[in-house]
Amino acid sequence: MNFNQDRLLQSSVEVLTGVGPKVKENLFKIGIISIEDLLFHLPVRYQDKTRITPIISLQHGDEALIEGTIKLANIVYRGRRSFILKLEDKTGIITIRFFNFNSSQSRNLTKGKILRCFGQVKVVGGSPELYHPEYRILSVPGEPTESRLTPIYPSTEGMGQTKWRNLMQQALSFLGKQPPKDLLEDISRELNFDVASALHFLHAPPVTTPLKELIEGIHPAQKRLALEELIAHNLSLRKVRDNFQALQAPTIKNDSDKVVSFLQSLPFKLTEAQKKSIDDITSDLAGNRPMLRLIQGDVGSGKTLVAAVSALLAITNKFQVAVMAPTEILVEQHARNFSNWLNPLGIKVGQLSGEVKGIDRKNILEALKNSQLDIIIGTHALFQKSVIFAKLGLVIVDEQHRFGVHQRLALTKKASPYQAHQLVMTATPIPRTLTMLAYADLDCSVIDELPPGRQQIHTVLIENGRRNKIITRVEAACKTGRQAYWVCTLIEESEVLEAEAAAQTASSLQLKLPEVNIGLIHGQLRQTEKKEIMSSFVSGEIDLLVSTTVIEVGVDVPNASLMIIENPERLGLAQLHQLRGRIGRGNTKSHCVLIYKEPLSTISKHRLEVIRDSTDGFYIAEKDLELRGPGEVLGTKQTGLMMFKIAQFPKHDSLLERVSEIAPQINMKMPNVIAPLIERWIPSGEEFGKV
Ligand code: ADP
Ligand code: MG
Repeated sequence: MNFNQDRLLQSSVEVLTGVGPKVKENLFKIGIISIEDLLFHLPVRYQDKTRITPIISLQHGDEALIEGTIKLANIVYRGRRSFILKLEDKTGIITIRFFNFNSSQSRNLTKGKILRCFGQVKVVGGSPELYHPEYRILSVPGEPTESRLTPIYPSTEGMGQTKWRNLMQQALSFLGKQPPKDLLEDISRELNFDVASALHFLHAPPVTTPLKELIEGIHPAQKRLALEELIAHNLSLRKVRDNFQALQAPTIKNDSDKVVSFLQSLPFKLTEAQKKSIDDITSDLAGNRPMLRLIQGDVGSGKTLVAAVSALLAITNKFQVAVMAPTEILVEQHARNFSNWLNPLGIKVGQLSGEVKGIDRKNILEALKNSQLDIIIGTHALFQKSVIFAKLGLVIVDEQHRFGVHQRLALTKKASPYQAHQLVMTATPIPRTLTMLAYADLDCSVIDELPPGRQQIHTVLIENGRRNKIITRVEAACKTGRQAYWVCTLIEESEVLEAEAAAQTASSLQLKLPEVNIGLIHGQLRQTEKKEIMSSFVSGEIDLLVSTTVIEVGVDVPNASLMIIENPERLGLAQLHQLRGRIGRGNTKSHCVLIYKEPLSTISKHRLEVIRDSTDGFYIAEKDLELRGPGEVLGTKQTGLMMFKIAQFPKHDSLLERVSEIAPQINMKMPNVIAPLIERWIPSGEEFGKV
């Protein structure tokens, strides 16, 4: 964030007293570089040291400030050596225990001294006790208490609370010297806080503040900051969109009968939801502004076919199509589908990934440049400079959340002198509340219907101890001609280790199941090897495919109806849902077995139950959001997109409605605050605007 004209707040934290190289390094590790970064490091909770609680009214679990006179001070040796005080006020007596103490403590804390302590009360056998409280010896009773709630900061190694508070005080005085401009005065009036006063408030809330509101994140000061932050995110995406849509795109008409005859050639009928999406796309393409459309559809809802029809429209208008997918396996599979569907119509489909090298690569690039290829399907290799199109008209991006906004826009730029149309497909259903933030730059079509005849997937949770039973069951299933996946996961994001685990599992399964034909696939194999294995699985030669999570997205083998997932507790819910979506695609009833290991935390258990009990991707995504936050759900954590400083979900869900009212108004009536807002809240804000 950047307070614009206010350069003071952008000074390095080094200018603060008490920030030497060591502290600077500690702060840097958690992303705090400037004073303004520090100001946005908000307390996680607060302590109330503003009033003294009479001993008689202490309740078990209370965090309380108490004051009294020491009546007794003893070192006792029962079991464990401890130092025990009895503290008395007008209303009662409390026991204070120290298990670790030094001789100066026991020398100073003597009978008759007046003590003020803060700690969490335990009621043991009906009487109140405090263990290791913070304390201070008072020279006279009744010294004033704190006038503000005490902030507790999320900490990091080497940084105590006293240090945080000290630095914050200094930072707040910088903020006081040069308060940032109020960019959203209406909201400030409505909530009674502007950004600066909200920061002052949250770092040192006055005595009268309701703690509960602060804890729930719904205090007006918190709402003020979160709302501005969310508005800034929304505006930055709108800006991307507006800039993009100001460009010319080729007009693509639906005036050939090829689409109709293609649809007639399919062995099935489109679902209503597919038809609706295709209609949306057709009308977007007919205009001369670039299409920016997102197709959201649960796993298996038939998005690829919608993409193929869109591609066909572009190609019948003599334009080329680029299809971008996140993994090589998916590229491979799209290439197979698109070729099966479109080759009979005389359409030429090519493939490009990092592994296509040498003369093959040269030939493909030549063909693309010379209009000999109609569709190129590839990974991010498509971004490379050497990839030049004769006449690119449409870019299709599958599983969009793995690519950044910039990446997908970079590809549409290869369509000079026009801007290419863009179709984005995602199988990660995104909670409605988040779409407007994550995809404010896109129009949205939802495929909310699965093709008819899909089988429900029955999911069970089984403890690792019963592994052999599962293996027997897999064997039985394979003998009846069913095919199965066995997915190995690892917590480390290491493809190498994950591949090793899968290889070990495959060989131990092969030992136990000599009659089952077992294949192994993982990210470490060469593309040709992966291709071979996938095609033997597709043809039914391989019965059981042991894999890493590389098969997570897109893989489509309808005959596979059984999936075993090891250590499912290590994966996100959306990822599990994706994986499981590989089965239940054919006509056989499908089963998914999640093999977990005890002990499981309550949250993990809860997550697995969500997956067991539901196959509704949208419901699962809502739950995932509750449990993990938006950066994880959208897979944008690494890219820094959708990482908020203040806003939290689902705490601030209710604010999103306001964002959708306010952001368009700002767009129309106050265009001059857009740039400073984006600059204030979004790290590379200016860059977004430029795309
Ligand atoms: P996803 O939305 O997960 O990408 P796919 O496009 O892979 O789903 O489609 C899943 C399977 O359903 C594919 O085998 C596809 O050919 C098939 N399919 C697509 N549309 C229909 C339909 N309308 N009726 C029956 N099967 C369909
Ligand atoms: Mg797909």
